[in-house]
Amino acid sequence: MKVVYTGRHRAHIPGDVIENGITRPSRDVPQRMDALLRAVYSLGHDVIEADDHGTSPLAAVHSKAYLAFLATAYRDWQRLGLAGRVVPAAFETRPEAYCDEWSPIAKSGFHLRDQITPIGEGTWSAAYWAAQTALTAAALIKEGENQAYAMCRPSGHHAGPDFGGGATYLNNAAIAARFLARDFGRVAIIDIDVHHGNGTQEIFWDDPDVFFASIHRSPEAFYPHFTGSQKETGGSAAPNGILNVPLPARAGDAAFVQGIETCLAGVLEHKPGVIVVSLGFDALSTDPCTGLSVSEPSFETVGQRIGAIDKPILLVQEGGYDLVNLQGVAQRFLRGFCSAESQAHNPIRSAGNSFASRQALTPLKTPVAMR
Ligand SMILES: [Zn+2]
Repeated sequence: MKVVYTGRHRAHIPGDVIENGITRPSRDVPQRMDALLRAVYSLGHDVIEADDHGTSPLAAVHSKAYLAFLATAYRDWQRLGLAGRVVPAAFETRPEAYCDEWSPIAKSGFHLRDQITPIGEGTWSAAYWAAQTALTAAALIKEGENQAYAMCRPSGHHAGPDFGGGATYLNNAAIAARFLARDFGRVAIIDIDVHHGNGTQEIFWDDPDVFFASIHRSPEAFYPHFTGSQKETGGSAAPNGILNVPLPARAGDAAFVQGIETCLAGVLEHKPGVIVVSLGFDALSTDPCTGLSVSEPSFETVGQRIGAIDKPILLVQEGGYDLVNLQGVAQRFLRGFCSAESQAHNPIRSAGNSFASRQALTPLKTPVAMR
């Protein structure tokens, strides 16, 4: 499998952030990518550098005003004589209230939804190249690759049409999905990050071509707090285009795998030409997000299940913050994802195996030389 990566993410160093009244170091540190790179190299995947696809695919998802804000916020903040990073102090999120003449402080309170998503000197560059990483991997799918993995940092799934939040700025998965929709028509996104992908949901709320399924810890007292319930099923132009599977805190392996099955059934019902996976590893039991208490072996099962679907699949990196175990869980998922076909054909592994017994749901992939 081809993996797309660029070291340009290192320019983004969030530093300390404030959440729920507590100041703490951001969990989105560059070392996350080092752990994921070790996983990718240990499995022998090809790593290639991201190409520049320009700003128009970004503008197909995000508003002009928001992109301009991201690109200039840090510079304008400094010009105002403010020290440090761009962090909002007051919030006004009603769309009708927006004013282009606002100060950078006011704009930050419109475009950034929390205080864990600071903009520093290197944030725009890193976010831009994370989106380009997703686009480069999506272009590989367009060129005929069955699977590709975009190692994006910062992540993207909390970023909406005109806002960032949850340590995300540009919605990499959504940008890739819309880019792929030009060629594939119908696209499905499955989001297995422990947090609800509120930005992705909002972007595709009324888009009948893109189906969005998300499994996550219930938003009750958990980020992003306001969205992610089963009642949210899509707008009038795209009824049932959203499928949320919220789970109780520390739901564990069986509930997680079963919830993924529910999401996949919805994904296949949409009959997509291509699937995008918002790939978070923060449901892991040892992750500091303490969301769903999922074990490493279950990530391998989930990787197998997703990898066995007979569609082109693009993996886009989202969360995952346990620096000690991130390499291991990524190896598990990727091993399952890339070996799904041989797993399914092994009669010993198949006997009485719930993964194998569900293969009737979808045909298997045809063999490819490089998985
Ligand atoms: Zn997350």
